[in-house]
Amino acid sequence: MAVKPVIKGVHIVPMGFANAFLIEGDDGFTLVDAGFPGKESVVFEAIRGLGRSPDQLKHLVLTHAHPDHVGSAAGIVRGTGARTYMHPLDIPIAESGGPFRPMTPAPGLLGRVLCNLFFHPEERLDPVAIDQPLTPGETLPIAGGFEVIHVPGHCAGQVALLWRPGRMLFAADVCTNIMGLGDPVGFENLEQGRVSQRKLASLSFDAAGFGHGKPIARDASTRFRNKYAKDPEDVHQLRSAA
Ligand SMILES: [Zn+2]
Ligand SMILES: [Zn+2]
Repeated sequence: MAVKPVIKGVHIVPMGFANAFLIEGDDGFTLVDAGFPGKESVVFEAIRGLGRSPDQLKHLVLTHAHPDHVGSAAGIVRGTGARTYMHPLDIPIAESGGPFRPMTPAPGLLGRVLCNLFFHPEERLDPVAIDQPLTPGETLPIAGGFEVIHVPGHCAGQVALLWRPGRMLFAADVCTNIMGLGDPVGFENLEQGRVSQRKLASLSFDAAGFGHGKPIARDASTRFRNKYAKDPEDVHQLRSAA
């Protein structure tokens, strides 16, 4: 299967209404997220499509422990030996394979419909061992450097990743880009989720990838600012909170 580049060095891998991203580095490939269960072969084919073998996948960074982001993680590790990374708050969920923390659907009818359709807290997955806990604020020294940003709200252990070499933000499920920037299907804590959306809008980046919806190749941080930091009061609050 041919995967499409978003920007140079980053390929989007469709994992069944969820996205994973394959990043090329001098230290082999890094995968951000592992999609729904049963999708590991999509990742292996994507790597082969780039003329390499699956054992070239060295790192698997998981943005949070939801079934559509860790579903194929165990299978991917079995097929590649990749080292796994996740925020400490979500590690016990990934390592037990569920159940998952409950979420409240996002405001609006669509949130309620999608949340009931896609999120089942009682779901059980193949457990995956996490090799390395992520520390918010650190820059992971893989693929040229990923800055780790803690963005709770949708999920307590959620991180976004800013890939320095390509100035690309991996926004996880802080927001989606299905019909423009919008809410994820649900929140564990709506207020924290709003703070995390504004936190990402305060950063500077060129490209953005999402757990769900289309990636943005350029001027992405302008779109985040227009959506989440429109109100000068918000920008002011962010500055004073920084
Ligand atoms: Zn999620
Ligand atoms: Zn998701």
